[in-house]
Amino acid sequence: MSNKYVYLFEEGKTNMVSLLGGKGANLAEMTRIGLPVPPGFTITTEACNKYLELNQEFPTGLMDQALEALKTIETKTGKKFGDRDNPLLVSVRSGAAISMPGMMDTILNLGLNDETVLGLAKLTGDERFAYDCYRRFIQMFSNVVLELDHSMFDDVVERYKRKLSAIFDYEIPANELKQMIQEYNEIVKREKGFDFPQDVNEQLKISIQAVFGSWKNQRAIVYRRINKIPDDLGTAVTVQSMAFGNMGSDSGTGVAFTRNPSTGEKELYGEFLVNAQGEDVVAGIRTPTPISKLQEELPNVYEQFVDTCNKLEIHYRDLQDIEFTVEKGKLYMLQTRNGKRTAKAAVKTAVDMVAEGLITKEEALLRVDPEQINQLLHRQINTEIKIDSIAKGLPASPGAASGKVLFNADLAEKYGEAGEKVILVKAETSPDDIHGIVYAQGILTSRGGMTSHAAVVARGMGKPCVCGCESIKIDYKSKEFFVDDTVVKEGDIISLDGNTGNVMLGEVEMIEPTLSKEFETLLEWSDEVKKLEVRANADTPEDAAKAKEFGAHGIGLCRTEHMFMSPERLPIVQVMILAEDQVAREYALDQLLPFQKEDFYGIIKAMSPHPVTIRLLDPPLHEFLPDHDTLLLEIAEMKHNKVDEKLINEKEELLKKINSLSESNPMLGHRGCRLGLTYPEIYRMQAKAIFEAMTDLTKEGINNITEIEIPLVMDLSEFELLKQEILTVYEELQQKTGIELNFVIGTMIELPRACIVADEIAQEAEFFSFGTNDLTQTTLGFSRDDAEGKFIPTYLEKKIIKENPFAVLDRQGVGSLMKIAVEKAKATRENILIGICGEHGGDPNSIEFCHLLGLDYVSCSPYRIPVARLAAAQANLKNK
Ligand code: ADP
Ligand code: MG
Ligand code: MG
Repeated sequence: MSNKYVYLFEEGKTNMVSLLGGKGANLAEMTRIGLPVPPGFTITTEACNKYLELNQEFPTGLMDQALEALKTIETKTGKKFGDRDNPLLVSVRSGAAISMPGMMDTILNLGLNDETVLGLAKLTGDERFAYDCYRRFIQMFSNVVLELDHSMFDDVVERYKRKLSAIFDYEIPANELKQMIQEYNEIVKREKGFDFPQDVNEQLKISIQAVFGSWKNQRAIVYRRINKIPDDLGTAVTVQSMAFGNMGSDSGTGVAFTRNPSTGEKELYGEFLVNAQGEDVVAGIRTPTPISKLQEELPNVYEQFVDTCNKLEIHYRDLQDIEFTVEKGKLYMLQTRNGKRTAKAAVKTAVDMVAEGLITKEEALLRVDPEQINQLLHRQINTEIKIDSIAKGLPASPGAASGKVLFNADLAEKYGEAGEKVILVKAETSPDDIHGIVYAQGILTSRGGMTSHAAVVARGMGKPCVCGCESIKIDYKSKEFFVDDTVVKEGDIISLDGNTGNVMLGEVEMIEPTLSKEFETLLEWSDEVKKLEVRANADTPEDAAKAKEFGAHGIGLCRTEHMFMSPERLPIVQVMILAEDQVAREYALDQLLPFQKEDFYGIIKAMSPHPVTIRLLDPPLHEFLPDHDTLLLEIAEMKHNKVDEKLINEKEELLKKINSLSESNPMLGHRGCRLGLTYPEIYRMQAKAIFEAMTDLTKEGINNITEIEIPLVMDLSEFELLKQEILTVYEELQQKTGIELNFVIGTMIELPRACIVADEIAQEAEFFSFGTNDLTQTTLGFSRDDAEGKFIPTYLEKKIIKENPFAVLDRQGVGSLMKIAVEKAKATRENILIGICGEHGGDPNSIEFCHLLGLDYVSCSPYRIPVARLAAAQANLKNK
């Protein structure tokens, strides 16, 4: 006996997604719960994979099983496939386990040929309808299966419409449709060298093959690559009897969301197209009417539809994205799936559904993708300032973007990749534009509704999109678009507001985001659940305040080098570096002290009562000096202009110093605690600034805790020496003021050796913070700046690494070292505080690893704090 490759809708259910694909499994589920679904069956993804393995050969038994299932449909519908009097028509649909919108093609009205079309006409008494179905079928089949360009067929339609002065294709009468079909057949014959297949079983067979084959088409491959979908899932094929939306004004087709996928509001949201079939809505050819129109036009159907939507939400306990058709006043459900939504809607629906008793708090937390909520922390257009918009379309995907206008996806990709901000402007987008959309800041289309390709894809990617902006007229040839008298050329800058649908000329001012009420709620729930504390990497009081507002409980990394860089300080820093001896250096450092103290005071105060980790100076000193080549040029110019010798000499001295400080490998050079050991007065000054700031705060009654961090330690003795310096500074000050301060001294762990000897370092260090940027560089031997530009892309492509190790923590390598360090440190000092402050501290996957390692906190940039809070909660929920 052969494997079971075919499942009737009655035989499947939701949890069979990997076998039946999302579409097949949910059609089965809807059938099971008694919703009106046209009968059908699904051929498994396993069959697809076998077919591709067998070099495009059906596995044994597949076609027999399909024909057997078709008989069941015939019984249910009382129609017969290929019958000249009462023909059964079906759709052939693709569906992978993971939804890939628009990636695979659907064929409608299959089963029509020169004879069955007569039967359909007679049976329905509607010749026009029958021939409309037939010409659609030939058109789709020719395009999807025979791979003929659809424009050849579109041209025929356009020509007939012109001849008839018709606006819509449903205005073309039966006779003309017949002539068109003849022309279609001629095109097929001319292009392919054979006649359009009349045998319905043959039609079915090659359609199934085409769907299987489409798993390997270029756009599907690109989509999978972008979305990290494995290549070996395969697609299922669903064969389903047709429901006809093109049977007149009491028929039509639509798509809807059970809640607004843009805002999350609890309201039916969707579009309906009267007297139309399937693809017409999604293709954005005619702009459809809002779903509420259905209420006016077909109130009974609308009521049934609302009822069905409620049933679906209660059953799936989630927002549903629905496709449906109305045939002569009767509703048919054709698809449902959990709807893609914007971050805003994801947060709102999750929180609302808890209030509605539909889901638990834990489920709500797991439903929102931490990476996606990043969108909510993006900037918005400042609505306080009055900006004239030149056009207004549909607000299809929220957020705001500015960029150069480009009319072509290839160009958008090219410029986007080069770091330019671009806005892709098209009449409508198709799956072939995906690569351009990826690189665009925002999308503007002149046609199509809220569920058009552009809208769906943009929402999925979290990009602003304005679509159906009909007042703009695009001229691809001259590379410009018009709105009334305004001409916008390729390369001109425009701005889009995806929240309002406004299109504006030039770059407009944006404002910082704020958290919505629902977002705050979700983050509060996160805090109840998570084990990890979340801190921020912040170097200024402003960043510290922002971080606190976003829920940071402390600063995990405050870098002090930025404080050295500001214009009024840099000259003093340079004097310090160029100092001949220690006395001269200390003199310069004394001048820096008040600045540092003021910085620390501000930051510690902004974060009070939470702790602040302050890292002592880390980068090599030459970073504070002018660039070598620039200086060389300057000197040459001075000489040329015969400037005063003395001035030239000064510059030449500086050049010498730069030369003497230059290193062949700065990343592994004279930096971190090595600086502190060669120039202890620098760290002493910094310690003094910290303690004086803390003393002032204490006097003012402001709680303050600091963690003083010595960078780049690889051995206990380095740490001991510097710790002693710091403690000496403290004791001197304390003797003067009599005020005790609350601080600890620890180290950043960023070298493999430090991990290995962590037990020793922990004898003296009171805390560890993993600097995973440098730890990744030193463990893999990759220099980050070189690696990311030069060979990481190749490594990813060749699958040597799964992710960029600087974005997602390398658990196996770097992670193992961290594990050793944690275990050893805890063996020495049971309650040692351990956190992470590398870029990884804001990455959900890496945060999960930190949770599993039992770290105390993660630290990330202020804008990632909400992401980290949610990710930390999910890490605990997923690993309970
Ligand atoms: P996609 O994955 O691109 O959404 P579908 O298989 O869902 O492709 O088909 C696209 C559209 O074709 C559907 O939204 C629906 O309107 C129409 N369609 C598919 N099957 C049928 C059917 N059996 N009867 C009527 N319309 C159908
Ligand atoms: Mg499609
Ligand atoms: Mg669909």
